[in-house]
Amino acid sequence: MRKKILAANWKMNLTHTEAESYLQSFLTEIGEVNDVEVVVLPPFTAIPASVSASEKMPALRIGAQNMHWAKSGAFTGEVSATMLRALYVKYVILGHSERRTLFGETDEIVNRKVRAALDAGLRPIFCVGETLHERDSNQVEQVLGRQIRQGLDGVSQKDFTEIVVAYEPCWAIGTGRTATPAQAEQAHAFIRSVLAGITDGPTAEKVRIQYGGSVKPDNAEELMRQKNIDGALIGGASLDPRSFAQIIRCAEAALI
Ligand code: PEP
Repeated sequence: MRKKILAANWKMNLTHTEAESYLQSFLTEIGEVNDVEVVVLPPFTAIPASVSASEKMPALRIGAQNMHWAKSGAFTGEVSATMLRALYVKYVILGHSERRTLFGETDEIVNRKVRAALDAGLRPIFCVGETLHERDSNQVEQVLGRQIRQGLDGVSQKDFTEIVVAYEPCWAIGTGRTATPAQAEQAHAFIRSVLAGITDGPTAEKVRIQYGGSVKPDNAEELMRQKNIDGALIGGASLDPRSFAQIIRCAEAALI
């Protein structure tokens, strides 16, 4: 049984003091969480404050939204996996569509980052997803297959289960337009079949695949009930601690 994982991608929002008050409200709102894993992914500057606040909730982990693949060096403005590990960060988002489209990250760059994260003991939340044009021209499987094969190239068998894959159709991110549970489930089942092809069936069964794209309290439970949907990566709705807590409750309700 794969443990569902609900992750809040704050993107470039919240200062470190705002993060502290967010987490205070969130912890009050959510109370105890036992059956799902919760991850908050603040901007770099709010990571230390978030790590301190997370000590009050055992199911809560802190992640980062990006990193460089090199261990150190002349890369002005960048942050390494080692630096994140030193702050007790557990997860890192890699290959988010905003990084791919706005910052030119290719499958090859994403692959370097995935391998560097794993080498440093960080768990990648590895994002894949098609554009609307690619969906409309029946290229979903081709695009997802390429992103997964190239993005996870060279990952060792034992590291596969450290990775969380996030299926995020670009047309659903920040648009209010969610994939239907059936569309999402179809993509997730396909992703699992690609993973089985590059590792093996039992390993692929253990990999958690999150859905991301306009997840909200009113659509989360049905999505979480799908066989191959193992959690959610949430942007906009996660900026309100109350709605993030409600989405977590929906994921718990889907377990019953
Ligand atoms: C995201 O940025 O990963 C995301 C899924 O955003 P939103 O929930 O706002 O669509």
